[in-house]
Amino acid sequence: MADPNETAAADGAAARLHARRDLAVAAAVRRGLLDDTAPLIALLDLRTVRETVAALHDAFAATGDPARPALHTFAVKAGSLVPVLRLLRDLGMGAEVASPGELALARAAGVPAERIVLDSPAKTTTELREAWALGVAINADNPQELVRLDTLAADRPPRAPVGLRINPQLGAGSIDAMSTATATSKFGFALRDPGARDRVLRAYADRPWLTALHCHVGSQGMPLDRMAAGVAVIVELAEEINAAAVAAGRRTQVDTLDIGGGLAVNFDSDEVAPSYREFAQLLRDRAPAAFGGRYRIVTEFGRSVLAEAGAILARVEYTKDAGGRRIAVTHAGAQVATRTVFAPEAWPLRVAAYDAEGRPATTTPLRQDVAGPCCFAGDLVARDREVPELRPGDHVALLDTGAYYASTPFGYNSLPRPAVLGFTADPGGEPRFTTLRSAQTIEELVAESGG
Ligand SMILES: *Cc1c(COP(=O)(O)O)cnc(C)c1O
Repeated sequence: MADPNETAAADGAAARLHARRDLAVAAAVRRGLLDDTAPLIALLDLRTVRETVAALHDAFAATGDPARPALHTFAVKAGSLVPVLRLLRDLGMGAEVASPGELALARAAGVPAERIVLDSPAKTTTELREAWALGVAINADNPQELVRLDTLAADRPPRAPVGLRINPQLGAGSIDAMSTATATSKFGFALRDPGARDRVLRAYADRPWLTALHCHVGSQGMPLDRMAAGVAVIVELAEEINAAAVAAGRRTQVDTLDIGGGLAVNFDSDEVAPSYREFAQLLRDRAPAAFGGRYRIVTEFGRSVLAEAGAILARVEYTKDAGGRRIAVTHAGAQVATRTVFAPEAWPLRVAAYDAEGRPATTTPLRQDVAGPCCFAGDLVARDREVPELRPGDHVALLDTGAYYASTPFGYNSLPRPAVLGFTADPGGEPRFTTLRSAQTIEELVAESGG
């Protein structure tokens, strides 16, 4: 049963989030931040981001090695904008990167190398050498990558934790494309294949410089239980590797457990569920050795850090009827809500309606398609959805889109990338906006396209 005090606190936080969003939308419309040249912007509630990161730190405080507090890295792909990474750095987070571009973004944001983790299934030799030289932590994906690391280790020992990414082969969650721990997943060392566990144990026995273990069992759609089971698998493996090292007369070997990210986001309401606190509590129950003080915990959350803080705000350009269906044509479609448009069952979004002045719409609810501007029929962000009747000049907000949406646009139809604005809003005060990314100009778009 949920603690009633916690439930009341969560309701309060959800109501405040909602109120701040309404204030920001009204201010954005009033100040003309949307117009004919920019009928689409993305908003990020900076207070929500701060509160979320504080909740993450709290949930894992007093766990693991007291001398090496948990390192919370942010999965850069979930919000690949330098000012966002800088804010997260200022809030005490590191960065999880999976490409040379993401590493460069983290460095540009001033994230120190010792707070960066490199995970990718396709790291080139150059990339590995650079990460090794910088002192970035590396999680090796496969035996061939490990051989490349042997060459680097022969030159000089790593300055940061290096480990193997383990696929505990626990099965899929509710979204196949997000499930990284299936039997045949492309990620990591498949632990349950015949002979695999012995090969992993041997890899550690042969390489005392391997001091970390990593697992990330999946993202959105992964049940908490499954995530905790994945962590339990690497904890058990770490204990086994360490026991073998001690039996061989060496010091304990694995001292870093990178438990990945993947906490699901609630796309149905403003309430945060599950919470970091629930997840950390479950881990204490299922994998107590992880918290016993022998290990440094590393996390790699992405979506859960930013999603609830963000909204994409678009103007309704036209409304029409076709075959008995009402359609609102807006400026937010596949170019910013790519997954929702292409996989609507897996990625439904809430749509909030605002009037031409940016006030919550009060028209009669009506079943409508909410369409985007792209030239293909499937470019709908909501289908047959009951929303207050939209009219030209109104606005729609796509909610919970702070992660993976506007920051990772899709170049279809050469639609320019929208501005991403951070805001702080207090009841009774005037919201303040800061530019996290400027809107792409048409000139920039032409130049980028070889013009
Ligand atoms: C994508 C990814 C994450 C972040 O997942 P979220 O669902 O955004 O929390 C963390 N670690 C790895 C290895 C990933 O690929």
